[in-house]
Amino acid sequence: MHELSLATAMVEQLEEILTREGGTRIVRIALRLGAMSGVDRDAFEFAFPEAAGGTPAEGAVLVIEEVPLALSCRRCGHCATTEEPIMICPACGFMEVDVVQGREFTVTSMEVL
Ligand SMILES: [Zn+2]
Repeated sequence: MHELSLATAMVEQLEEILTREGGTRIVRIALRLGAMSGVDRDAFEFAFPEAAGGTPAEGAVLVIEEVPLALSCRRCGHCATTEEPIMICPACGFMEVDVVQGREFTVTSMEVL
């Protein structure tokens, strides 16, 4: 499962930071999850306890902020967030658009003890 390996990698990285900071436990992890990140939120939340089990992150609360996809059109300059994960300008239908946001998979903060 893709999300399990992501969760495991995240826990390993956070453990390193924890060790460096001299903490013993991770109690809360906040992260931003883009609509186009390729990470399924439900699967990630399901995989996290398994990845965190037996590590200092066991039992930590996950706070996930979902980031909608935002596109910027190369033809008309229209910039908007969109519910649909489709790479097309919602204003003019042009297909050359840049992703402004929505690819995030970023830990923004964590609380440690
Ligand atoms: Zn456009």
